[in-house]
Amino acid sequence: MKNFVLAGNPNCGKTTLFNSLTGSTAYVGNWPGVTVDKKEGIYKKFDEPINIMDLPGIYSLSPYTPEEVVARNYIINENVDCIINIVDVTNLERNLYLTTQLMEIDVPIVIALNMMDVFRKNGSDINIDKLSQRIGLPIVEISALKEENIDELMKVAIEESKHDRKGVTIFQGTNLRHLVKDCTTAFKGIGVANPLFHAIKLIELDELETKDHPQLVGIVKAFKETYSDETFGNDLEAVVADSRYKYITENLSVLKQSGNSIVNKDNKSDRIDNVLTNKWAGIPIFLLIMFLIFHLTFSTNFLFLGGLFKNVKPSFEGSAFEGLLWTSDGINSIGVIFTNLVTSITNLLSDLVSEAFSSSPSWVSGLVVNGILGGVFSVLSFLPQILCLFLLFSILEDSGYMSRIAFILDKIFRKFGLSGRAFMPMIMGFGCSVPAMINTRTLADEKERTVTIRVIPFFSCGAKLPILTAIAGGIMSITNIKNADIITYSMYIIGVITAIVSVLLMRNTTMKGDIPPFIMELPSYHIPQFKSLMIHLWDKAKHFIKKAFSVILASTIIVWVLTHFSFDYQFLSDQNMDQSILASIGKLLQPLFTPLGFGSQLSSYGWVFVVAAITGLIAKENVVATFGSLAACIAGTMIDVEATGGDVIAVKAMISATNISVGGLLAFIVFNMTTIPCIASVATAKAETLKGKFKWTLLFWLITSYIVSSMVYLIYEFHFTILIFEAIIALIVIAIIIHNKKEKEKIK
Ligand code: GDP
Ligand code: MG
Repeated sequence: MKNFVLAGNPNCGKTTLFNSLTGSTAYVGNWPGVTVDKKEGIYKKFDEPINIMDLPGIYSLSPYTPEEVVARNYIINENVDCIINIVDVTNLERNLYLTTQLMEIDVPIVIALNMMDVFRKNGSDINIDKLSQRIGLPIVEISALKEENIDELMKVAIEESKHDRKGVTIFQGTNLRHLVKDCTTAFKGIGVANPLFHAIKLIELDELETKDHPQLVGIVKAFKETYSDETFGNDLEAVVADSRYKYITENLSVLKQSGNSIVNKDNKSDRIDNVLTNKWAGIPIFLLIMFLIFHLTFSTNFLFLGGLFKNVKPSFEGSAFEGLLWTSDGINSIGVIFTNLVTSITNLLSDLVSEAFSSSPSWVSGLVVNGILGGVFSVLSFLPQILCLFLLFSILEDSGYMSRIAFILDKIFRKFGLSGRAFMPMIMGFGCSVPAMINTRTLADEKERTVTIRVIPFFSCGAKLPILTAIAGGIMSITNIKNADIITYSMYIIGVITAIVSVLLMRNTTMKGDIPPFIMELPSYHIPQFKSLMIHLWDKAKHFIKKAFSVILASTIIVWVLTHFSFDYQFLSDQNMDQSILASIGKLLQPLFTPLGFGSQLSSYGWVFVVAAITGLIAKENVVATFGSLAACIAGTMIDVEATGGDVIAVKAMISATNISVGGLLAFIVFNMTTIPCIASVATAKAETLKGKFKWTLLFWLITSYIVSSMVYLIYEFHFTILIFEAIIALIVIAIIIHNKKEKEKIK
């Protein structure tokens, strides 16, 4: 079977094209050894089926990112019959930069000029024949999104794949041409395939190339000594890159004509940017958008219409939708409505199951109804809100807004010692820390990377959301705060502030380093594609549900068993849970948490908080799952709380059983948010951070969470303690300033 690859910049439409070419045959895996997606599928439109490989999105074939290395090795070393180079015509210069490198390889190439639909709509035009002639490669204009000209593209690619092709280069007309020729001859001499490609990489003194062919480095070194370019001196890598860009702007991109200004897409993007990335309004708008997202997801007083709603409400009273769509506080947001739906379904199931088990021994029904269903259902009931939040974030990302934010924040980030690039992984942290930590590979400075990875867990992930929502609900039930979204939003903000302060501290003490410049091309705004949003969403849901029925299910069973057996293997009823194995462990550790408000000051069952936090080290969903299964048991032993599973009710049961204060509850949220993350994130952090720093990273999480949550508790309960904390912080800052000054003097 013939093997074609799709190569192109990130966001040029590769995945869109891949999906329409391969349909349901696609197979997603991982490249061996690195966490880069590997996608393969089969194109079956014509007689001969063709294997299609979606390479990772790349800007060049340098050895700097795992994506670049993967793509380069695949094209050079595997049997590729044709490269389909996707070029986003609306970003022509940048995209052709990769093309000028691909064309040096001895493999047939077709250029798929993508996004022609938007380009044409703007009234822009491009001289395809001239472009094709100057690059020496066939070009097919397509729209991956509208599936226009796709089969035509494949026809041309199949035709090309029948003939051999020799690489060509744009260095013919430059003063590097003799060196290129010499190096190419040398590679031919030692019988290396793709001599032209290797020759130019050698001239760049590319890391992989010089390692593979040290005997040839001399040719370039000798040239380098005599050669000096007026702009770049003898930095050959920069000279090569510059020549490519010069060639593109002088010979290729001039063939493009921008459309009239009224419908020009880039102008439209610019006009949106005038508002969204405005110097003054940019950040307030960003915070407002974030708040709206939380409001849509969590609020039980949508748009603060509660007061207005009270006047008309009597006419709705008692209708079937009461509770689902609104409560006495106001109208529910979308997130809450879906949560209510799911909760009523799971409650119904719980009731059915508990009836079915009513005649079986008490430990069986206890394990099944309270232990398993109580735990798993209390986690599942948060799925709607997690998906809602995730969907809204994906829309921001797909539309191109997130890159703008990275751009606006770059200036501020620099003050803290990070580059704007660190923003994307942080935002991804709101979804899941694992991919977020992996995404830090875009950061060039190793210390900056380690610092970013350490603070990523403070950007509260989807799995921590249940803790927030459940406890916010509990807090609402004992205070007169009526807006869950305000509690969750402020908890997220505390996480972000903790991250900022930690970054500042680390970059000024143990993790000093330069910040590399931040260069980034802003993509034009896109209207997010419904299909791709849904695919993301389904991936997320699948992952969450899988986790609920594997890791979390297993943990709830273990927790239930450990709380219903004593050290001498006696089965304990719910009333005697206090004498269980887990209770003893929890009680042992409990005093440690007294400064955090959920330690020894709590009455009986206070150990459940400690136990829940510990189970959270496996997966953060476990915290609420543990509440779910244990609170159902506790509620059964008390008279004043309704004994059902579910989320908020479990927390209410815990509150009345332990008399925990609001400050303690808030501190508990913050502790779980900032302490050692789940096992998967810990393993990722270990793999991705600087060697030898891992134990410090663990210690950093423990200490930070302890300090921040005790601050939250103490300041909330005893306002005067804010003065003490302020004094301590001032002392630390002064100490650092003095220390840094001394160091500078030493260097002088
Ligand atoms: P990848 O990063 O190269 O895999 O790019 P994607 O396939 O994810 O596409 C990036 C964005 O460009 C998505 O929002 C697509 O909907 C959009 N897109 C892709 N091809 C076209 C096209 O031909 N026309 C238009 N208007 N948008 C496109
Ligand atoms: Mg893609």
